[in-house]
Amino acid sequence: MVINSEEAHFFRERLLAWHVEHQRPLPWKGERDPYKVWLSEIILQQTRVEQGLPYYERLLAAYPTVEHLAQAPLDDVLKHWQGLGYYSRARNLHAAAQYIAFERGGVFPDTFEGLRALKGVGDYTAAAIASFAFNLPHAVLDGNVYRVLGRFFGIETPVNTPEARKRFSALAQQLLDPMRPGAYNQAIMDFGASQCRPRQPLCEQCPLAVRCVAFQQRRVEQLPRKNPPTPRQQRFFLYAVFQKGRSVWMQQRPMGDIWANLYEFALWETEGLPEEPAPLAPQVAARFFAEASSLSFHGVLGPYRQTLSHRVVHALFYVFQMSVDEELLAPSQPLDQRAVTAQWIPVEEVEKRIAMPKIIAQFWREKALSCR
Ligand code: SF4
Repeated sequence: MVINSEEAHFFRERLLAWHVEHQRPLPWKGERDPYKVWLSEIILQQTRVEQGLPYYERLLAAYPTVEHLAQAPLDDVLKHWQGLGYYSRARNLHAAAQYIAFERGGVFPDTFEGLRALKGVGDYTAAAIASFAFNLPHAVLDGNVYRVLGRFFGIETPVNTPEARKRFSALAQQLLDPMRPGAYNQAIMDFGASQCRPRQPLCEQCPLAVRCVAFQQRRVEQLPRKNPPTPRQQRFFLYAVFQKGRSVWMQQRPMGDIWANLYEFALWETEGLPEEPAPLAPQVAARFFAEASSLSFHGVLGPYRQTLSHRVVHALFYVFQMSVDEELLAPSQPLDQRAVTAQWIPVEEVEKRIAMPKIIAQFWREKALSCR
């Protein structure tokens, strides 16, 4: 789709004028320090501004420079990230910080390609950092931009297809203001978030309405189009929570699966959750502690549920207490052999020191109080 220069001028000038009046003051707006821009963009990749803001402030206070972040242990970074989800972002952030600090002397790449090569940085994030920090002419393409362009130009191509990616990205690049790429990118994202929003867009007060195809043809509710998502995979976790005195057994999840490096209890993954969970307790315990004589069952809690981008995890927590005199120091077979580390952890340290998946943190905070 090729648009003429008059149409592009109309679109970008109205958008920029709207932004002068309506922009939201946020700590990273107008920021030129690539470290701060990068940090904010990684946080906002799958997170709403309201949720991400306190994390941005806390992470920046803990790691004021890329060197501070690079030198921090990964477990500490994951702990600061806890609650934000999509933990691969934190692992990539840490790996990229180490690359920038230790292999580039703390100097950020200042080209789109250099930024795109950083771990965890895709096309969108590279364009955002390139335009905000270095004023380079690269248009961002996120859900907001798809929606604004899809409606304004009346584009029928479903946005979650490779064809749409090519089409919208070429269009976004044509519309970009080459002299003010950072301001333009910020304007179109803010416009999508607060004016041309997914539901109940403010069309009656919209500066683009006069030429907006969706508005003029009464198709705002139908655009942009999207193919139905593929169903999420269902996973079923039976956790055995072993306590011994004031310690609890936890293992670090392996790479190559959800929640890599986060801590969990001894896990038995099954094909489904039992209809009657409690009678299964001896089998759960036997999977890990065949010989433990002092093990006593304290109850089963759940089911808990956590929805991820492509999966839904259902979990039950079987709580067991063993005598402090029990000689067995660690669960035996078949604890996940791929686990990175496994250890007895004092209960006081669990919340302070350990990064856990949301479902485990929720169990630990809400329901395990009586077990501590
Ligand atoms: S008129 Fe409505 S649908 Fe069109 S750009 Fe404006 S807010 Fe979006």
